Amino acid sequence: MTFNVPTLLLIIVLASGLMALAMMTVAWGERHEGLQLWAAGLGINALAYVFFGLRGAISEPLSIVLGNGLTSIALSYMLAAVLRFHGRALHWPLLWLPTLLLSAALLLLLDHFHLRVVVASLVLAGQSAAILAALYTRRRSTIGRGVLLVMAGMGMAVLVMLLRTFAGVTGTLNAESFLQGSALQGLTFVTTLAVLLVASLGFVFMTKERADEANRRLAALDELTGVANRRSIIAALDRDVGRAIRTHESMAVMMVDIDHFKRVNDTYGHLAGDQVLRCVVDVIQHRIRAQDIVGRYGGEEFLVVLADTSAQGARQLAEQLRAAVQATHCAYSGESIAVTVSVGVFGGRLEPGDSWDQLIHAADMALYRAKQDGRNRVETVEALGRVTRQGVAGSTPETCPSSLV
Ligand code: GH3
Ligand code: MG
Ligand code: MG
Repeated sequence: MTFNVPTLLLIIVLASGLMALAMMTVAWGERHEGLQLWAAGLGINALAYVFFGLRGAISEPLSIVLGNGLTSIALSYMLAAVLRFHGRALHWPLLWLPTLLLSAALLLLLDHFHLRVVVASLVLAGQSAAILAALYTRRRSTIGRGVLLVMAGMGMAVLVMLLRTFAGVTGTLNAESFLQGSALQGLTFVTTLAVLLVASLGFVFMTKERADEANRRLAALDELTGVANRRSIIAALDRDVGRAIRTHESMAVMMVDIDHFKRVNDTYGHLAGDQVLRCVVDVIQHRIRAQDIVGRYGGEEFLVVLADTSAQGARQLAEQLRAAVQATHCAYSGESIAVTVSVGVFGGRLEPGDSWDQLIHAADMALYRAKQDGRNRVETVEALGRVTRQGVAGSTPETCPSSLV
């Protein structure tokens, strides 16, 4: 099979250049440093292939050294892009080192065609392998599809460069055939095109996946305290209610409300109030188990969902929480602010048909009682529906979801 190598080179120049432009356009003015570095790599790669394509039209050393040197720089930029993406520091002297070594070796080996091919292929294979290594992070629990694409692209690059190394060692390449389309030359450039497309698309997907993940987190978390927001804590409660009904295990919820929080705002200001909210959340998070979930249900009310927990266990935990908050002094701008919390607890076994809003209603009723009885205390309800609205003088605590009111 023969390939029209000049056409392939032109396609690589166009593909690299246009993708670089597109990426730069997207990343312009944004904090997408990784994308900008990858785009720079693509732009440099386009230039490299212009010099490869000019073989015969310009002096051969210029075409060889600039073509390979720029390809190596392009790979360094792509490595820098991946490192930046993972928030790692860039050591530019190290990143430039392969290019310097390669250029020096090529200048020395200009008259040794096969050795030149071996050295260039090995250096470029090594740089592609470095990108593969940088893509792998142990912290990642699931590998995104974008990363897989970049890995596939770089894996292909390593393979084709090793194939060229082999051809160089065995002397199967012909020095005259650079622009004439031997099978290996054609395979190299077709693969290069595939690598560029697959890896660049992969890198764009990596940044998109990260943005999607950040958006998902933002949508699920409370901005001020960093715990689950109302929507996601209710979703978690709903899930746990379903599980408790299926498994016949008891479960519990706690509604934690800061006492006289309005006074904190009035005395110290709203920013101090915000700090107290974070401080109370901190105390709660340090005392609950890994499987328990805390969420901000409303202004200064937090809902804690305790799977596989009896009313007694939940009451004990609530008492510990209450005491811990009382013992904690929240620091804000030189002030030491002390607050207390009242906690309403529901704990018990659920039956088919029970739903999350009944649990919140029960915990809310218990909380109301704790407030009525003087605050800074824990009250417990052990059966759904045991406490009725009439039982609390017909008032409607603000924490009640509107569906229950
Ligand atoms: P109680 O002991 O009965 O619970 O009294 P309280 O003052 O804590 O309750 P109240 O409902 O009267 O006041 C709650 C206050 O919480 C009013 C509101 O301004 C404040 N608040 C709600 N969300 C935030 C917030 O995000 N930051 C700050 N600083 N304050 C908030
Ligand atoms: Mg309240
Ligand atoms: Mg309050």
